[in-house]
Formats: sequence, C-alpha cells, structure tokens
Amino acid sequence: MSHLPSVVVIGAGLAGTEAAWQIARAGVKVKLIEMRPIKSSPAHHTSDFAELVCSNSFGARCSDRASGLLQEELRQLKSLVIKTADEHSVPAGGALAVDRSQFSESLTKRLSSNSLIQVERRELSQLPTEQQVTVISTGPLTSESLAEDLKIFTGLNECHFFDAASPIIEGESIDLSIAFRGSRYDKGDADYINCPMNKKQYLAFRDALITAEQAELKDFDKNTAKYFEGCLPIEELARRGEDTMRYGPLKPIGLWDPRWGDVKDKALRREKRAYAVAQLRKEDLNGRLWNLVGFQTNLKWHAQKTVLKMIPGLQDASFVRFGVMHRNTFIESPQLLLPTLQFKKRIKLLAAGQITGTEGYVAAVAGGWLAGTNAALLAKGQKPIEFPPTTMLGALTHFISGSAKDMKVKTNFQPMPANFGLLPDLPERIKNKRDRYCAYRDRAIKDLQETNQKHLGQLLEKSTS
Ligand SMILES: Cc1cc2nc3c(=O)[nH]c(=O)nc-3n(C[C@H](O)[C@H](O)[C@H](O)COP(=O)(O)OP(=O)(O)OC[C@H]3O[C@@H](n4cnc5c(N)ncnc54)[C@H](O)[C@@H]3O)c2cc1C
Repeated sequence: MSHLPSVVVIGAGLAGTEAAWQIARAGVKVKLIEMRPIKSSPAHHTSDFAELVCSNSFGARCSDRASGLLQEELRQLKSLVIKTADEHSVPAGGALAVDRSQFSESLTKRLSSNSLIQVERRELSQLPTEQQVTVISTGPLTSESLAEDLKIFTGLNECHFFDAASPIIEGESIDLSIAFRGSRYDKGDADYINCPMNKKQYLAFRDALITAEQAELKDFDKNTAKYFEGCLPIEELARRGEDTMRYGPLKPIGLWDPRWGDVKDKALRREKRAYAVAQLRKEDLNGRLWNLVGFQTNLKWHAQKTVLKMIPGLQDASFVRFGVMHRNTFIESPQLLLPTLQFKKRIKLLAAGQITGTEGYVAAVAGGWLAGTNAALLAKGQKPIEFPPTTMLGALTHFISGSAKDMKVKTNFQPMPANFGLLPDLPERIKNKRDRYCAYRDRAIKDLQETNQKHLGQLLEKSTS
C-alpha cells in the first residue's frame, strides 16, 4: 500500500470527515489529523468526528428548499456524512435532524476502520510542506497556532477571527411599495433600499429589540466581544437610549422617498421626512441578496425573525442568514481560493468547511466533499473539478471564491449559507416562488448529474483498477 499517493486532512469536523472519506473512496491514502481530545475547542465536548457543536438539525429536508437541495446533491454524490445523517435521523417535522451521539460515533467508527485512513490525534500548528496535497478543514474555532500560521501564509488582514454579521434578506421579499431605493443626500447611485419608520413604529421596534430573547454568549465569545465596541449589537444600541439608533444605523437625515413629493423647503422637508430609516445594502452585484446595515446582533434567530419583520417593508422578509456575533475564523476566500477550493498561490493546498466562509453544517459537508475529491484527483495527477453555479454546491463555491459572474461579493466578505439567491436566473421568470424553487432544483440536479458522470466516473474507475 506504500506506493499509493497520499493526502493530509487537518481537522475531523463535518468537512474533514467527508473529505477524508472521499479521498479514501478514490483509492488514495489519507492522514487525518484531529486535535481532540488532546486539545479541545471551546465549543466541542467529545473526541468524536463530525461533532455537531450546537443544533442537531441539518435544515429543511425537502429538495425545493436550499439546504434540502444541497443535501440531495450530496446524496447523489454519495456523501458519507449525509448518508449517516439519514441513517440516524430523528423526527423533526420537515427538517433533517439527527441523534447527535449515534451520528458522530458511527462516522468515527467508519473512518477509523478504513484501512486507507490513518488517524493522528494531535494539534497541527503549521501547514504541511508545499509538496504534500493537503486539505485544511479546521473550522470556525481553528486552534490559535494554526490560525497564526494561516495568517502568515495568506497575508495579514486576510483572515477574520470574529464574525459580526448583519442579517441577509432576499431582495424579492422586500416590499418596495413601502421601502424605497436611494442613497443618503442622493449621492452616487440609488444603492440602498430604505425602510422608513414613523415615531410610533420606531418606539415599538425599539421596545421589541430590548425585550427580545438574546442568545447566550459562550465564555470564549464574551472576551472577544469586548474588543468590538465599534461594532455593537443593535439591541445594545437600542438599550443605550431612545435616540441612539437614530444617530447610528437608523439615521433618517438625507433620505427622501420621491413619493413624498418634490419638497424644496428645508424646514418642511425635515418635518415630512421619516423619523428613522433602516437601510439595506446589496450583498451581490445583482441585488438578489440585501444586508441590513449595522444590524449585527446577538438576538436568538426566532427573535430576529419576529422583531425585524416589524421594520416597514420587511413584513414578508425572507431571511437568507440571521445576524451573528461570535468567534469565527475564516479566510478571505474571494481573494485566495479557486472554485475548486484550491488556494491560488499553492494549488496543492485546499480548504473546506466554515473556514472558507461557507456557513452551516450542510455547506461544510459540501465543501469537504469537493475539497476531498479534488485532493484525490490532484494526488493521482488528474485535473480537479468544479461544479456549475446552477448547482447549489457550485453556486456556493463560486460565490466564496469570488468567481460567480453575476454574484460578485459586493460588501465585506461574510460567511454565506446555501440559498436560492446564489443561483443564476432561470431562462424564464417563474412568478410562483414554490414553482421557481422546484425549477431551480430540477436544473441543479440535471447539471450535477452531468458533471458527475463526465468527471467522476473516471476517478472512481481508476481507483478500483
Ligand atoms: C459555537 C458555534 C455554533 C454553531 N452552531 C451551528 C448550528 O447550530 N447549525 C449550523 O448549521 N452551523 C452552526 N455553526 C457553524 C458551522 O456550520 C459549524 O461550526 C460546522 O461544524 C462547521 O464545520 P467544519 O468542518 O468547518 O468545522 P468543525 O466541525 O468545527 O471541525 C473542525 C475540526 O478541526 C479541529 N481542529 C481545529 N484546529 C485544529 C488543529 N490545529 N489541528 C488539528 N485539528 C484541529 C477541531 O477540533 C474540529 O474537530 C456553529 C458554529 C459555532 C462556532
């Protein structure tokens, strides 16, 4: 077996577990390096692979929902992690939720008993040499020494350690009969969507923010959060005073809806303008996704959904991602990665999972699948593959690597979960949302199967020969 090519995978989380399995499946030896239990992260509790650090849900199971479609794509690609999730699922309405212990124990056993996978329990503090094909999948809580080495490798300021992100909303769910486009003092293009509030709406919104349920900060986040006074959660701003938000992210001055009339007189304009305005900024060039500016928050997700829908124009908002404030190590993927998940400056080094700036369990598994498959191809001297952006897997990897033609990252790069806003338009617009999502799904599965047959039959043929 010593003549077989080999790959190193660092981190046996969701991404690393899938990557290691796919590499072995292609007949390539893997060294899987996991620091637990020698050293633990602040959120993990066991030494099992693919431990779910928080919820036991992989999101909606139905393939006409974004996470369900990504799960389905992974099923078709023979993902071990999704297969194991299916085997250990528990009743959870429309969601794929698992018995977390059985799920992780089963994966640990499968990998540990595979003769092509050698498990090493230790912390890796430096990236392996350039010659070694390596997948880095050390997650949002990458150990400090490795994060430092990664920072040196990628270049300063190209590694984020804290994620203070505002919610992202699907553009088409914003009610433009209430909200209006425009920029402050009409400077530049009308780049923002503005949601105007009167005094009564503002005060009710402030009350709701103050009383909404907060997520409990983990100890490791309490320390980190102290350093970010400049980026306070919106509920904290609300708490600091009745008008604090109106002097910050909800500032109304210079924002005028043309539907309020052509008023020139300054005093009259002041009287007629909104009492407060929440602004949304484009997350991508096409304006499919919009970021609620300055709304980083520690509110629980269900509370965000209720409270933020009180903003006029957002009553039917469809959230692609909720606001978060927690420690989260991720690289500046749009500058660093190719859609194959190889680093541009070292093509034998690949990255997968949350560290690449995807968000969520299923997206981590998807990154692991692609990075693992491509690592195996590279180790065999073959060309790595990429998936078309019409598939959810391809859409995510094109987005994070900044290669999606009409989905370029517009604002600061922030982690992105699977969502339909990432997919290119259909040839014809389908008005009904459900029908549209089904059409996205059908196109995605067809294109995935074509790519799979074209490139991967060959990989697996060679592995068994
Ligand atoms: C506190 C928290 C809660 C979250 N909750 C959810 C949730 O409920 N739902 C959801 O969809 N997403 C959640 N996420 C986001 C994310 O999807 C998960 O963290 C997911 O597990 C990411 O998978 P991963 O494989 O990239 O990283 P992980 O699953 O974290 O795996 C990384 C692995 O690398 C190991 N490692 C780290 N450094 C080293 C090193 N130097 N050497 C060797 N091994 C190392 C770690 O021990 C770990 O096993 C959460 C994230 C955090 C931080």
